[in-house]
Amino acid sequence: MTNMAYGNEALDCRAHADAGALQSHPTRDAELGGGLTIRRALPHRQRRLVGPWCFLDHFGPRTFPSDSRLMRVGPHPHIGLQTVTWLFEGEILHRDSLGHEQLIRPGQLNLMTAGRGIAHSEETPAQHSGRLHGLQFWVALPADEADCEPDFVHHAELPLMERDGLRLRVFAGTLEGERPPARHHSPIAGADLELVDTGSRELALEPEYEHALLVVEGGCRLDGVPLEPGRLYYLGPGRDRLRLENTAPARLGLFGGTPFGESLILWWNFVARTPAEIQTARADWQARAARFGEVRGYDGPRLEAPELAARLRAG
Ligand code: MN
Repeated sequence: MTNMAYGNEALDCRAHADAGALQSHPTRDAELGGGLTIRRALPHRQRRLVGPWCFLDHFGPRTFPSDSRLMRVGPHPHIGLQTVTWLFEGEILHRDSLGHEQLIRPGQLNLMTAGRGIAHSEETPAQHSGRLHGLQFWVALPADEADCEPDFVHHAELPLMERDGLRLRVFAGTLEGERPPARHHSPIAGADLELVDTGSRELALEPEYEHALLVVEGGCRLDGVPLEPGRLYYLGPGRDRLRLENTAPARLGLFGGTPFGESLILWWNFVARTPAEIQTARADWQARAARFGEVRGYDGPRLEAPELAARLRAG
């Protein structure tokens, strides 16, 4: 897109100041296991949360040889969050310390609730399509649920809604009356929007939510403002609809929720509220404490926690 597009966007930010301000933030490259480079959309220095959504990686689209395994993320722990894994192409094999071994494919949902502690591995399976493209989100658990029992649920099929050249798959919470069976602990929405035909259409939003959009393929316009791949677009509360226009096929992730209103500490794979919680979780993982359990069947080493940041060592 041209600089002109940014000029238009800046104008539009003012135009919508009273109906859910629009901000745009660049994603940044990060390395996952196996040499897979992903684009991290959340957290961003200027945007740490969208509702309870606190982390978002966009991986692929990538093509890779049949004898290689693009994603190789060895066993690692989580606390205080849910992971939401959603694929556009390819497949990932999940294993966790509760004993689940689950292949996920496009259109399916993996929802893992870490609560007080879980460990998992994620990798390209030995038999694969040679393609990988997807999203992984973390959803922070509210304080009174942060220590809940860990859990993992695979949803093999989610409803697909088609209208106005839009294919809508709601994978979290509620959007446009669609409500998948996945269980969350805060009011949220998460959806895969495929603009298969060109044109314009509107989506109803919950005005109490803040939202974000990530273009994963193609491009489109939001209320006339061009949206580009590789940027996260944040929409403040107060919007009751989105108008999306496109002149070529496009695909977007949309997610939102009630502003979370709690201060969180994100460190490595942990979401907590105090440095002490982070210190204890790190020590428990490094000591192989029963809290996180063992991931069986992964053909490789577990991930070791990095050194604690100075700000987390005291207190
Ligand atoms: Mn993980």
